[in-house]
Amino acid sequence: MINFGYTIATTRVVNIDNCDFEKLHELEALVPSFKRCMNCGACTATCSAQQFIPFNIRKIKSLFQEAQYDKLSKELEKCMLCGKCTLVCPRGISLRPAIMNMRKILSVK
Ligand code: SF4
Ligand code: SF4
Repeated sequence: MINFGYTIATTRVVNIDNCDFEKLHELEALVPSFKRCMNCGACTATCSAQQFIPFNIRKIKSLFQEAQYDKLSKELEKCMLCGKCTLVCPRGISLRPAIMNMRKILSVK
């Protein structure tokens, strides 16, 4: 195969059959603003933790929606809970409380 120096990215479409709506609704009841995300990526671009380690706060959202809890638990431990993502979100999403509640729901320390 010819090496073009790039590959086709795997799809990021959320498979609704894999979603865990019980936990998702539990989180949305605690943090109603969580529903308003438009996936702009501003939170990821300004995240304090991602300056030091591979970490993508936007990915955390999709992992939670897709119920990929093993991967998600490891990712959640990387957040420093500084709150910068909450300040920059153009939709006013309370991301810091969302992360804290995800940790509680999944029993991550
Ligand atoms: S900044 Fe807000 S709207 Fe944009 S991806 Fe992050 S949570 Fe979603
Ligand atoms: S609270 Fe967590 S996800 Fe948000 S900017 Fe800080 S380290 Fe990043």
